[in-house]
Amino acid sequence: MKLVDTHCHLDLPDYNGDLSEVLVRAGNAGVERIVVPGIDLNSSRKAVRLAAREPMLFSAIGIHPHEADKAKDEDIASLRELAVSEDKIVAVGEIGIDLYKGYSDPAAQKKLLVKLIEMALELDLPMIFHSREAAGELLEIIERYDHYATRAVLHCFAGEQKHLEGFLAKGFYVSFAGNITYAKASAIRDLAKKVPIEQLLLETDSPYLSPSEVRGKRNEPANVRSLPAVLAGTHGLSPEDVGRITSHNANSLFKLGLERANIYSYPIRDSLYLNVTSRCTNRCSFCTRDISDYVKGHNLRLDKEPTAEEVINSMGDIDRYKDVVFCGFGEPTLRLGLVKKTAAFARSRGKKVRLVTNGEGDLIASRPIAKELASLVDLVSVSLNSPDEAGYDHICRSVFGERAYPGILAFLESCRDNGIKTEVTCLDLIGQEAVKAVKEKAVSLGATFRERHTDVVG
Ligand code: SF4
Repeated sequence: MKLVDTHCHLDLPDYNGDLSEVLVRAGNAGVERIVVPGIDLNSSRKAVRLAAREPMLFSAIGIHPHEADKAKDEDIASLRELAVSEDKIVAVGEIGIDLYKGYSDPAAQKKLLVKLIEMALELDLPMIFHSREAAGELLEIIERYDHYATRAVLHCFAGEQKHLEGFLAKGFYVSFAGNITYAKASAIRDLAKKVPIEQLLLETDSPYLSPSEVRGKRNEPANVRSLPAVLAGTHGLSPEDVGRITSHNANSLFKLGLERANIYSYPIRDSLYLNVTSRCTNRCSFCTRDISDYVKGHNLRLDKEPTAEEVINSMGDIDRYKDVVFCGFGEPTLRLGLVKKTAAFARSRGKKVRLVTNGEGDLIASRPIAKELASLVDLVSVSLNSPDEAGYDHICRSVFGERAYPGILAFLESCRDNGIKTEVTCLDLIGQEAVKAVKEKAVSLGATFRERHTDVVG
């Protein structure tokens, strides 16, 4: 049976002595992927390091509500920095509200949560929510956010049915842990019954919540194999069905690379294009991602984001190409660290490097990034598509809202000032008057201008 443990604190000292053996036992039990969530900055950093070292591990970055009183804005800035510079970070979590233990002031928890949700939205990452005695409060905050906030899992849920229905209506996944196996846990099994199998995930929450047969001992990811039999009972399926469907669900939410090969580089004409993320800070009305997975015969939908090494390995004989272009199915500056490493490799092989971007890289990283790109990128090409802020908001629907358009203009100026050639592009579908105005804007920014047709890549 194939399984995914979507929530497991392998960064905790409980595993310091025998993590390798724990992972071998997980593999032997059929566990293919494990998500390690962070509970504060240090824990998130450790989760990221573990994921870089162990192929089956992926990390999430977050600050647990218990830590809200201690959390500083600099911690959130450091988490953001991790997200744009490191690999295999698949979510923001563990975040949420806990009114049961009362380890942190409720107002501080909510304030922190809002900041972390906004960071997740700006990084276009799904979220892992913790809620204890706080489902109503969490729902109230979630309701403020449109459909973007619905890419999330409510981990280890044990609240009231009316709240569960609210989370399910928002499209949340819900995960259950070993406590669902306890003889007296009929209320949790009743809740699980209400979750459609398409929204169900498995987790161990290790080292906590060991299933009944090992209750009282340290939990570990191999024990996730105890859950499918229980959920098979609640959903009228076989345990294998539950394993397969929940693994598919986990892969859909977190992009764990379980289901198919990914295209990280693809040739068009005499250029090699690089596809480094499917995440984006915009929801452009013309985006081809909403229509098809294919661009010029290449399936660009990613089942897992690559590491820089994976992108470089995918390039093959780079000497066949005139240049290397960061342009795939998402916004490349969300993977700034990867862009820098990969561009450095391409430049070392004498290739020109082009970065095709929505121009929101400064907003994503929360700092000006042009200086870091200056020695690595020959041309930055920004898809502007509007001569003004209102038009941009209407067409491109950035998660940064009214900060987007001025932020893009500032990025273009900063690239120019750092000696990077800049190009502004504009789709012809906005009409010739507006195209002309965008061209004038490009000239005023010292950029070249190119009018594009929707079906022309890059
Ligand atoms: S910026 Fe590009 S990838 Fe992002 S939504 Fe717009 S067209 Fe799609």
